[in-house]
Amino acid sequence: MSTGLMPVGMICLTFDDGPGATHGPGPGPRTVALAEYLGAQGIVGTFFMCGSQVERHPDLPAAVLSLGHRIGNHTHRHSHLPSLDAQEIHEEVLTSFDTLVRAGAATPMPFRPPYGAWDERCAAAVNADAELAAGHDGVYGWDIDGGDWQFWEEGVSDARLVADTYAQLARSAGAGVVLMHDSTARADEPSAIMRRNNRTLEAITRLVPVLQREGFVFSALPAG
Ligand SMILES: [Zn+2]
Repeated sequence: MSTGLMPVGMICLTFDDGPGATHGPGPGPRTVALAEYLGAQGIVGTFFMCGSQVERHPDLPAAVLSLGHRIGNHTHRHSHLPSLDAQEIHEEVLTSFDTLVRAGAATPMPFRPPYGAWDERCAAAVNADAELAAGHDGVYGWDIDGGDWQFWEEGVSDARLVADTYAQLARSAGAGVVLMHDSTARADEPSAIMRRNNRTLEAITRLVPVLQREGFVFSALPAG
């Protein structure tokens, strides 16, 4: 998927599958520290959150919003929507939407389906509820997949991740929506390993200064 809306040299940072928090030192999700870092740099990030994660960390959306960022809907349980029936698709989007609104997220909020998996049947299931459809803004994909989840699963360093993401940006003429993950939403064991090893905060604090030095400009997610 591509937004096709970004001028050359513009980068838009998006973070999926959070929010998350880690106590003490070491790797792990750190959504608020990430939001603080970006805020201090004057960068508006978009955090596509899962309702189930917000239920675990109900105070984090307000902290992210207070730092000037946007919150989007990434479904309740991070489901592969085309595999569900219409009622289940509606429930996955609605439950998360209601949870995010209760947590303070503004509407209409951007929507990104897990895995980028979306089809006409998914759209029909959401659009059948006019109020729910009106509460969302676009279906957002990404141009550059940081592949960070794979790095965390394989225990590869954040320095490698930064080099890889930078190379992808260079290949894309330096423009695009970048996908990374501030946590991992699913409960299975590979996902738990990725979550424990998450170093997206460390990767971003290395990557952003490099991009700033190279003259890249960060922008908020363009309207869908
Ligand atoms: Zn996701």
